[in-house]
Amino acid sequence: MAAQPAERSFDVIVVGAGIMGSCAAHAAASRGARVLLLEQFDLLHQRGSSHGESRTIRATYPQPHYPPMVRLSRRLWDDAQRDSGYAVLTPTPHLDLGPRDDPAFVASVANGGATVLAPAAADAPRPAWAEAFRVPDGWAAASSELGGVMKATKAVAMFQALAAKLGAVVRDRAEVVDVARQGEGTTTIVVKTATGEEFHGAKCIITVGAWTSKLVKSVTGADLPVQPLHTLICYWKVKPGHERELTTEAGFPTFASYGVPYIYSTPSMEYPGLIKIAMHGGPPCDPDGRDWAIGPGEDGLVEPVARWIDEVMPGHVETAGGPVVRQACMYSMTPDEDFVIDFLGGEEFGRDVVVGAGFSGHGFKMGPAVGRILAEMALDGESGTAAEAGVELRHFGIRRFDGNPTGNARSY
Ligand SMILES: Cc1cc2nc3c(=O)[nH]c(=O)nc-3n(C[C@H](O)[C@H](O)[C@H](O)COP(=O)(O)OP(=O)(O)OC[C@H]3O[C@@H](n4cnc5c(N)ncnc54)[C@H](O)[C@@H]3O)c2cc1C
Repeated sequence: MAAQPAERSFDVIVVGAGIMGSCAAHAAASRGARVLLLEQFDLLHQRGSSHGESRTIRATYPQPHYPPMVRLSRRLWDDAQRDSGYAVLTPTPHLDLGPRDDPAFVASVANGGATVLAPAAADAPRPAWAEAFRVPDGWAAASSELGGVMKATKAVAMFQALAAKLGAVVRDRAEVVDVARQGEGTTTIVVKTATGEEFHGAKCIITVGAWTSKLVKSVTGADLPVQPLHTLICYWKVKPGHERELTTEAGFPTFASYGVPYIYSTPSMEYPGLIKIAMHGGPPCDPDGRDWAIGPGEDGLVEPVARWIDEVMPGHVETAGGPVVRQACMYSMTPDEDFVIDFLGGEEFGRDVVVGAGFSGHGFKMGPAVGRILAEMALDGESGTAAEAGVELRHFGIRRFDGNPTGNARSY
C-alpha cells in the first residue's frame, strides 16, 4: 500500500538498502530521527553487493586508516547482535599469507598487530590448522585475533529489523530516480521514485552501491569514479578426511593471500564439506545489464584460484572438476580502493546529502561503523564517533579525485 501523506516527510531519507544503507537507517533511527529507507528491488535481493552467506572481518590492512574503523565496527556488530538477538558473527582467527617482502603484506601485518608464524620446519609452537597450508618459499604467514565470518544477508536483515523496531519506515520496490532541493533557499530535500512518489527529507543519505555513478551523474551531473565489477564467489570441495579440520568449530581461520591474484577465504561453514576460496576483483560490468556468467573458467575468476589452491593447499582442497558452487556478486570499485564517505556538496546540496559508496570489495565488515558515521554526518554535520575512534575521514573525500584520477592510490 502506498505511504499516506503523513508518512512522506522525514528527518533522514536513506536511498539503497544494502548493508551500508541498512546500517545508516538503523544508526539514524537510534538517534530518534524519523527515517525512511528506500530500496529499488525486493529487500534482501541478490542483485547488489551485500547478499550471500559470508563475509570476513579482519584488522590487517595495508592502509593504517582502516584498522580503527574495523575495531569500531567490531564493537557495533556486538551491540547489534545483543539488541536484535540475531547471531551473525562467528569469531575466528585470521591468517595473512604473502611474499615476505610484499609491501602490502608487511604493512598489513604491522597495522593489524598480526604475529608471524614460525615456519613448519622450526621447533616452535604453531596452531594445528597451520598444517593445512604449504607456504611457498620466500613467503610468510601471520595470524591475528580479530577475524570472523559474518552471515551477510542475515546481517542486512538484522539492521533493517532493528531500524524498523525503532520506527524507521522501510520501503522496497521503490527506485529513486531523483534527489533535489525543493526550491532555492529551502531546507527540504525531495526524493522521487520511478512510480512518481515524492518524499521530503531534511537530510538524505545515498548508499546505492554499484549504482552510485549513475545516480550521482543524473542528480548532479558529476562523474564519481565508482566502477561496478562482476565478481564470483567459489566454493571448493574439501578433500575427504579434512572436512572437520577446515571448519569454524575446529578454529580454522579466515585467510587472505597477498600478491597476484589476491585470494580470500572463509572456513567451511555454510555448505558442510565445501570451503569458500575466491579472488578479489573481476571485469567491469553494468549493474543494469549483467550477463550473470558463471561458467567454468569465466572471466579468469576461477583458474587463478585453482592454481593457488594446488600450490598452497594441495592436501586439503580438491580442484579437479572446478568449484562446486559459484555465486555472482558485484564490487563498486574506486581507483584507489578507498571508500567514498562525504557530503555530496555543491551549491544545491551542501551538507544536506551524504554519500557512502565505493566500498571496493572490502566494506561489509565496516558496515556498522560506516552507517553510524553517515548518520552522524547527516544529523550533526560531522561524525563524533569517527573522531573518538580515531577514524580519519579525510581519506574518503570525494574531492580527492579532483584533477587526480587515481585518488589515494599507493604503490601497493
Ligand atoms: C563476492 C564478494 C565478497 C566480498 N567479501 C567481503 C568480505 O569478505 N569482507 C568485507 O568486508 N567485504 C566484502 N565484500 C564487500 C562488501 O560486501 C561490500 O562492500 C558491501 O556489501 C557494499 O554494500 P553497499 O550497501 O554499498 O552496496 P549494496 O549492497 O549493493 O547496496 C546498495 C543498494 O542500493 C540499491 N539501490 C541502487 N540504486 C537505487 C535507487 N536508485 N533507488 C533505490 N535503491 C537503489 C541497490 O538495489 C542495493 O540494494 C565482498 C563483496 C563481494 C561482492
